[in-house]
Amino acid sequence: MALATLKEVLDIAEQTGTAIPGFNIDNIEIPEAIITVAEEENCPVIMTIGQGAIAAGGLKHLPDVVRSVARHSSVPVVMHLDHGAGYEQAIACLRAGFTSVMYDGSHHPFAENVNVSRDVVRAAHAVGVSVECELGAISGVEDGISHDNTNLVDLNEVSKFISVVDCDALAIGIGNAHGIYKGTPDIDFGRIRACREMGAPHLVLHGGSGIPEDMIRKAISLGIRKINVATELRLAFMKGLGETASGGDIYKMYDRAKQEVMEVVRAKIRLFQQK
Ligand SMILES: [Zn+2]
Repeated sequence: MALATLKEVLDIAEQTGTAIPGFNIDNIEIPEAIITVAEEENCPVIMTIGQGAIAAGGLKHLPDVVRSVARHSSVPVVMHLDHGAGYEQAIACLRAGFTSVMYDGSHHPFAENVNVSRDVVRAAHAVGVSVECELGAISGVEDGISHDNTNLVDLNEVSKFISVVDCDALAIGIGNAHGIYKGTPDIDFGRIRACREMGAPHLVLHGGSGIPEDMIRKAISLGIRKINVATELRLAFMKGLGETASGGDIYKMYDRAKQEVMEVVRAKIRLFQQK
């Protein structure tokens, strides 16, 4: 089928009280592994292209990979930009055929975040593409970009932001972090509830790798509709490669790596679908 927009799949999640996974993709094999399981589980998926992948390969080939995967898929697939760096990159992704772009202005002053987010929304919505914005910078390191500020979103800022920025999804800092957690994350569930009560768009949880299952279930029950998973997929892929590297057969390596990724994808989909 054709690529779906982020809004389309998150509306489905809202109706069903579930969350849709945003899986980072870095090559051909990871999306192949993701779509195999997504079809088996009959679950829409968001294939996310992040800043690391763009730095490595530009916007040349991965969008074609996602388009091809979607064309042959029986479930909706979204092509999404993760942590978009600015207006210009959002425009480049619109031209490359993305159906969803994130603009992350959370580490900029609030007024600047509002202004750029509004510009991205105006451009993207003009061509039917969804937009995710972010408030309360999410800590940890992702793709070499480090945020070490406190990451609990300011609810007054959420209220002001959503009154002037018509985004389709909003990532909020609620004690979550990118990468691997040191100890159990301290998730502020009250902020999810508060954001939802003030009419925020579909809420997004970044740093989904390593948050305990009961916390994920609770976050979804309170209104989280998209959960990003990157680190766990990469570690699974590299584990599979490492186990088979001595054999010297690249196809066996990829096959083993894809099996490892599929296990993680299946567990996340079932958890996010509240099964
Ligand atoms: Zn993130």
